Amino acid sequence: MIKPEKVICNCRRIRNSEETMNSTAKTHIVMLPFLAQGHIIPFLALAKQIEQRTHFTITIVSTPLNIHHLKSTTPPSTTTINFTDLPFCSSDHGLPPNSENTDSLSQSQIINLVDASQTLQPSFHNLISNMIQQHGCPPLCIISDVFMGWAINVAKSFETPHFTFITGGAFGTAAYFSIWLNFPHRKTTSDEFSVPGFPETCRFHRSQLHPLLRAADGTDIWSRLIQRQILLSLCSNGMLCNTVEEIEPMGLDILRKITGLPVWTVGPLLPPSLLNRSASSSFLSSPLNVSFSRSGKEPGIATENCINWLNYHPPESVLYISFGSQNTISSTQMMELAMGLEASGKPFIWVVRPPIGFDIKGEFRAEWLPEGYEERVSKRKQGMVLHRWAPQLEILSNGSTGAFLSHCGWNSMLESLNQGLPIIGWPIAAEQAYNSKMMEEEMGVCVELTRGLESWVRREEVERVVRMVMNKEGKGLEMKRKAMEIAEKIRDSVREDGDWKGSSLKSLDDFLDTVVLSRER
Ligand code: UDP
Repeated sequence: MIKPEKVICNCRRIRNSEETMNSTAKTHIVMLPFLAQGHIIPFLALAKQIEQRTHFTITIVSTPLNIHHLKSTTPPSTTTINFTDLPFCSSDHGLPPNSENTDSLSQSQIINLVDASQTLQPSFHNLISNMIQQHGCPPLCIISDVFMGWAINVAKSFETPHFTFITGGAFGTAAYFSIWLNFPHRKTTSDEFSVPGFPETCRFHRSQLHPLLRAADGTDIWSRLIQRQILLSLCSNGMLCNTVEEIEPMGLDILRKITGLPVWTVGPLLPPSLLNRSASSSFLSSPLNVSFSRSGKEPGIATENCINWLNYHPPESVLYISFGSQNTISSTQMMELAMGLEASGKPFIWVVRPPIGFDIKGEFRAEWLPEGYEERVSKRKQGMVLHRWAPQLEILSNGSTGAFLSHCGWNSMLESLNQGLPIIGWPIAAEQAYNSKMMEEEMGVCVELTRGLESWVRREEVERVVRMVMNKEGKGLEMKRKAMEIAEKIRDSVREDGDWKGSSLKSLDDFLDTVVLSRER
């Protein structure tokens, strides 16, 4: 990839003008993701993008186990990115031993991890202080996650610019911020309500709120933790958002308005091998190991077996089902989903994680599914049930995959839309219901099957919605058409052609240039 002249130019100016300072420190970016796969993955991808476009030094900071994973995905021979760990012992915080990532915790334990992650502040402060001693000046900037908002205090104490990287989309994040900060649902008895910053016509529904948010009033632990991190993030010098200017115009308008900050759109942060293809090309084989090098997690099946299974099926005929890295559904919902999928007659790949109430790290149990289910659907080649973790990128980029039944986590949404795949939404937590709403109402690429863990989803409804989307007639066809349009916009945003540069590349270069100029000033 061509390194942007402007950025290199400014970097060179820095090196030439103040030779007393170590140039490494002056172009050093320190990044601090939250302790969750869905956050670490785009942070690493952003670091790789910056690495490709500049000569900057980049250090990703996290806890020992997360750093261990990151190092395994990105060996030193392949990168100049540094990985540094901060001391952290999960059992000191009432968490199970070796639990440093939300993917190994139940929903009720995640709050403890959010809380515990704040105790990293003193050691992060020491780390930056040591860097300054070593290099003679503070890093160029610190980029931290919204949920690590406290990093701004560290940045301020060293007079270093701080930027918040939003790993979610613009619409979903704007809604998440505004609802957590204003509790608009508490100001009405109606199920429907409007949200400050959003047009009056864009109504939200109580059922789109996670039960913890429905019950929150500003005094409980969740409110205090989340509000504090959001408010700290709003004191940043600006925000980077893992989205594309052209696909979320409304969400970006609102996000810029409610934060009052510059927002640079730098998405989709996906492996280049997935972006350099035309969305309309149908292909039956996929690049292997992109998922592993993105997450460092071994799938519950050899990727080749999964690809061979997909390749056996006709183009766009397979439904992929996953609830992401940290969510799952109830046992009753799992049974209904299983029977609905089978009744639909459509081929599917389903990543099954232990249902609510079971040890999230526990072994798969056949009793979670109808009797003989796995064997039956596998024998007919109708379904493949994967345990725990799937090679998601390889599945979504395979030409046999036709749609994605998802919890609407933002990384999954970008991975799916980049391939022009329509979505069947089943949002569960965080900002997922707002993502689903935006994709259904604004983009027209999603139909929501149900939401949350309390819903009584019937097998007949699963069957009906799966058929409607997979049959690609009427509404299903329209969703596919719109998903292909979004895919084109996504790919354009990261395309470079001579002097022409897509909006996300332009935006990333502009961000880097701004940071360098602010250091010069
Ligand atoms: N992922 C995966 N295999 C799985 C589940 C998830 O590779 O079985 C990856 C997925 O490709 C995505 C990330 O994990 O990049 C999940 O992020 P997302 O924002 O979709 O959801 P979250 O896990 O944060 O709820």
